[in-house]
Amino acid sequence: MPEIHAARGAERTAKSWGAEAAKRMLMNNLDPEVAEHPEDLVVYGGTGRAARSWEAYDAIVRTLDELEPDETLLVQSGKPVGVFRTHEWAPRVLIANSNLVGDWATWPEFRRLEALGLTMYGQMTAGSWIYIGTQGILQGTYETFAAVARSLGRESLAGTLTLTAGAGGMGGAQPLAVTMNDGVVLIVDVDQTRLARRVEHGYLDEYTADLDAAVARVLAAKDAGEALSVGVVGNAAEVFPELLRRGVPIDIVTDQTSAHDPLAYLPIGVPVEQWKAEADRDPEDFTRRSRTSMTEHVAAMVGFQDAGAAVFDYGNSIRREAELGGFERAFEFPGFVPAYIRPQFEEGRGPFRWVALSGDPEDIYKTDRAIAELFPEDAALHRWLEQAGEKVHFEGLPARICWLGYKERHLAGLKFNEMVASGELKAPVVIGRDHLDSGSVASPYRETEAMKDGSDAIADWPLLNALLNTASGASWVSLHHGGGVGIGRSIHAGQVCVADGTALAAEKLERVLTNDPGTGVMRHVDAGYEHARDIARERGLKVPML
Ligand code: NAD
Repeated sequence: MPEIHAARGAERTAKSWGAEAAKRMLMNNLDPEVAEHPEDLVVYGGTGRAARSWEAYDAIVRTLDELEPDETLLVQSGKPVGVFRTHEWAPRVLIANSNLVGDWATWPEFRRLEALGLTMYGQMTAGSWIYIGTQGILQGTYETFAAVARSLGRESLAGTLTLTAGAGGMGGAQPLAVTMNDGVVLIVDVDQTRLARRVEHGYLDEYTADLDAAVARVLAAKDAGEALSVGVVGNAAEVFPELLRRGVPIDIVTDQTSAHDPLAYLPIGVPVEQWKAEADRDPEDFTRRSRTSMTEHVAAMVGFQDAGAAVFDYGNSIRREAELGGFERAFEFPGFVPAYIRPQFEEGRGPFRWVALSGDPEDIYKTDRAIAELFPEDAALHRWLEQAGEKVHFEGLPARICWLGYKERHLAGLKFNEMVASGELKAPVVIGRDHLDSGSVASPYRETEAMKDGSDAIADWPLLNALLNTASGASWVSLHHGGGVGIGRSIHAGQVCVADGTALAAEKLERVLTNDPGTGVMRHVDAGYEHARDIARERGLKVPML
């Protein structure tokens, strides 16, 4: 398969910008700078794919080029299955990925169906074509570590040492997020190529296979109060217990290996080169071995907590996997959403992101300045935009992320649309978000862990979110199962809009980018969060029973 790169610039081959943008974003997800394993259509997050097969990929691209501006393409788990006449306000693409009926929603059944060629794992933004590389999670990770510092009574992470694992597509944001907060971090990954890639992209300062050398480097930096990130090649299930045994003074511990999928977590004793062959040979046995290793890994995390460290699950379901492996204390440390992020969700805040279809980084720098001018009071946002401008290496089409909330996002969308219309930006801009957002996900081990009213597993909310975004004029809308935490554990929705500079786009953007975060405020009002109620009242959200 030749390398895939999305087209750049203001000329399109599709018949509408909605279809052109979907095509470019599908291609961008598979750009070798963006995807972790593009040859297998794998974008990130274990086996999160952009299309079911190369034949399906070709058919999607061809169909998007032929799609009329009043037609909608339906994609079923990465395969284009139908084109229907709708209308101009309707999404150009509707996507459903990895959905299974409740009793069948297990990894073994999913894999059986996948092997029959009937489904694919879409993760969150892989199968919904709005992954923007490691930057996509960087601000969220940066904000989480800033909140950890505050919870420790510190202004920053200066003088602290964080231990984590998993330097993949999303986990690779952790080292830069810690150093942007002035801290020191040791990150463990079994795969040396992942650490090398993070160094190449400026997310990690250095890496080594020598644990003693890595520990000496991070302790010296911690003592000197200097920011530093060091990767170490090794299995977290061995390295974490070893560091605990040595009594290394670690202040914060988390993990972002792909624990949500036991076949994407490497058990102790399996060489990286034999990973895939071993997992394919006997998936059930591999799952058992990975869960056994995860019990060692999580037991060490609990051990660090017992020793006084701040420990949290970073959204990969490792506690549940360790529990399934037989470790009873797995849930003794919290997930990051209830611990640090929920107050943002109450305001409808979440990872708003946009991509310059021109391919010109200058377009992103112009939008950065526009956002800073739109929100002059938000000091944290200004600090983020400054640091991102300096430190973020663009992967694929230039993109930016920043967390914005209800009655904020549409202002940004309308401004970008004006900038496209006036020619200030060289081509249209794609505006979307992660599925990890305030109103678009039901995921009891992550986004909806420990909801105030106990509604963690109620999955009506992401369905309503997807339906509302479809009714409001989004360019493509997706509804997935199993992202982040694995099959059987989450239902979530995504939307993407296109600012092409037209008056019609402005009308759609205004509605979608108001309504979409509005569902996050609504969800938290319904669950009884006072701050969400205040936001709804202040910002005029209509909630019939409030
Ligand atoms: P990825 O598959 O790209 O990377 C996972 C990394 O873990 C790989 O580099 C792999 O080599 C490494 N790894 C696997 N087993 C290991 C072991 N035993 N010891 C050390 N390293 C090991 O996945 P990703 O996109 O980085 O996502 C990581 C996890 O985080 C997933 O479970 C994902 O669902 C979750 N996630 C969390 C958030 C969040 O906001 N917290 C967001 C997205 C994804």
